[in-house]
Amino acid sequence: MKLEALRIPAPLRGFAAGEAQLFDIALAGDRVESVVPSAQQAQASGTLLSALVDAHAHIDKNYTVQDVGAAQGNLFAAIERMNRHRESWTGESLRLRMERALNDAWRSGTRALRTHLDWVQAEPPAALAVFEALREEWRGRVELQFVSLTPLDLFADMAAGERIAREVKRAGGTLGAFVYRNEGIVHKLGRVFDLAQQHGLGLDFHVDEGLDVEASGLRSIAQLVRARDFAQGVVCGHCCSLSVQDDAVANETLALCAGAGLHLVALPTTNLYLQGAWDRTPVQRGITRIREAAARGLRASLATDNVQDAFYPYGSYDLLETFGLGVQMAHLAPASDWLDTVTVNPAKALGLAWDGRIAPGCPADLLVLSATDEHELIGPRGRQRTVIRAGRVLDTLN
Ligand SMILES: [Zn+2]
Repeated sequence: MKLEALRIPAPLRGFAAGEAQLFDIALAGDRVESVVPSAQQAQASGTLLSALVDAHAHIDKNYTVQDVGAAQGNLFAAIERMNRHRESWTGESLRLRMERALNDAWRSGTRALRTHLDWVQAEPPAALAVFEALREEWRGRVELQFVSLTPLDLFADMAAGERIAREVKRAGGTLGAFVYRNEGIVHKLGRVFDLAQQHGLGLDFHVDEGLDVEASGLRSIAQLVRARDFAQGVVCGHCCSLSVQDDAVANETLALCAGAGLHLVALPTTNLYLQGAWDRTPVQRGITRIREAAARGLRASLATDNVQDAFYPYGSYDLLETFGLGVQMAHLAPASDWLDTVTVNPAKALGLAWDGRIAPGCPADLLVLSATDEHELIGPRGRQRTVIRAGRVLDTLN
């Protein structure tokens, strides 16, 4: 297959482009064979991306909003509702929800997805066995990873923490926790780091998902990574509080994060819905400081988070929708320069074999967008796509 006169956004180029802006790409089998400057540089036929990577989802609870109702901005009400609803979850209902999510992601051009699985007690949740089966079934289409999502306070129970870490290790997952203004936060986080180090696990936190200026979870995590020389990957999702802290405080935290090699993940849809006032028009919108982080070399990811559940009653697994929202919410301009937020950066955060940079020899897992210039990216033509997986065109919804 040959693709002609395509723009390849600068952060996705794994080759020396020189002055050229448009490229011809030849595919051979499941690989990219060559990338060369187009003979004509005047008119693009579209934009080429590597297949998308979703660093943060919740496929165990998506599509439940009809049952539980939307929480209208109250994160803790949403958590409470899901806690009640979780008691009704069965293997069958979980499988239906998870498969629907994976189909949606796959058709949208997602090649890898990391989901959090609610894990609110020592024993593994029913969702884990379903996830493990689906991870096998979807191998080669959507590479799946999971994170245990446990309230940080549960790690104060030594036996419970040990049980969780063992099971996460057995199932090949990443250890996680929900961290927000907990009492004894440094001590409890230290316990999570102990377990990760003892079992050789990476870490992925929901951290500071709120607008309290005193929230210090992100800073504590960065300090622990450095104090422990923690060598596994550490991913921090949300980090909303950073948006309302004084510049000096936030910058100090970001410097610690950059020094610690943390990965930041911003979740535009759920943040917009849950953060900011609901009794009047919201002013604060909860997106973390993506641009200040980038200025320190810390390139964040944009990810899906919740889909049609109590935390976020709308949405889909189309990461290009999320990208468009993130661009507008955080003023990411020019948009092309931020396409690494849904490709390269999450690939690194998840430790994938391919970082998503397009170059001869890379996998032919690609998206061709109809958008021919910068401005069309954030519009219908920026979402209109041909998905190519292993060198073959996938029938898409668009
Ligand atoms: Zn989440």
